[in-house]
Amino acid sequence: MRRIIIAGNWKMNKTIEESVSFGLCIKKMFYGKPEVILFPPFTAIKALSDALYDSDVGVGAQNMHFESTGAFTGEISPVMVKNAGANYVLIGHSERRHIFGEDDELINKKMIAAAGSELTPILCVGETFYERQNNLTEEVIERQIKVGLSEINYSKNVIIAYEPVWAIGTGANATPEQASKVHQFIREIISSMYGVGSGDEITVLYGGSVKPENIEELAKMEDIDGGLVGGASLRCDTFVLMWKKLKSVKIC
Ligand code: PEP
Repeated sequence: MRRIIIAGNWKMNKTIEESVSFGLCIKKMFYGKPEVILFPPFTAIKALSDALYDSDVGVGAQNMHFESTGAFTGEISPVMVKNAGANYVLIGHSERRHIFGEDDELINKKMIAAAGSELTPILCVGETFYERQNNLTEEVIERQIKVGLSEINYSKNVIIAYEPVWAIGTGANATPEQASKVHQFIREIISSMYGVGSGDEITVLYGGSVKPENIEELAKMEDIDGGLVGGASLRCDTFVLMWKKLKSVKIC
């Protein structure tokens, strides 16, 4: 079933204390739907999930390795992420793909590991500016989804985030029409892989410079189920404002 979600990706920001303080703030102001999921740095997952234990706010990891244990210095396994209190994980975020060189095959291994560890993965896909300019958007998105989900039995658990690379952290969001067109295309690919109608059931979030000023117009598009927010998720008051705006469009 499709879910309406606002997720905050804090990237490499916030200490344990800052994360807990955000958690306590959001817990006070958040009630019911849309769902909220927060992605703190690894170091704050345990403290944040403890602070949110009696709330509906979900906690996730921004990345993970695909193996459960072993000689992988500096890496964190799905078991460890789960053990720290996370129920979600971002896989293939554009900063992982473009700064740390993660390719679709590696991302697929992580998707398989997430599925086997009872973590709900958010598979992030998106084209670069060059790819959009050269009419390669659909080709890139199709490859990222088909390879990323290879050998994954369709699970309604999987969430996809469409995050055009050119819109992440730039202040220049995709227009609602641009985003919606790609979301529709993503649903078509899912239906072609997993059967008629499956594309309408999967949750597809938009990410890329979502902020209070644009969340309503993006959310008005039927194929956009919510947002994955980076920079504008770092302040509790701004995040709650976006949550209220999403709620006013999608829930009430
Ligand atoms: C992100 O990190 O997933 C993101 C969309 O960042 P921003 O909202 O800052 O563009």
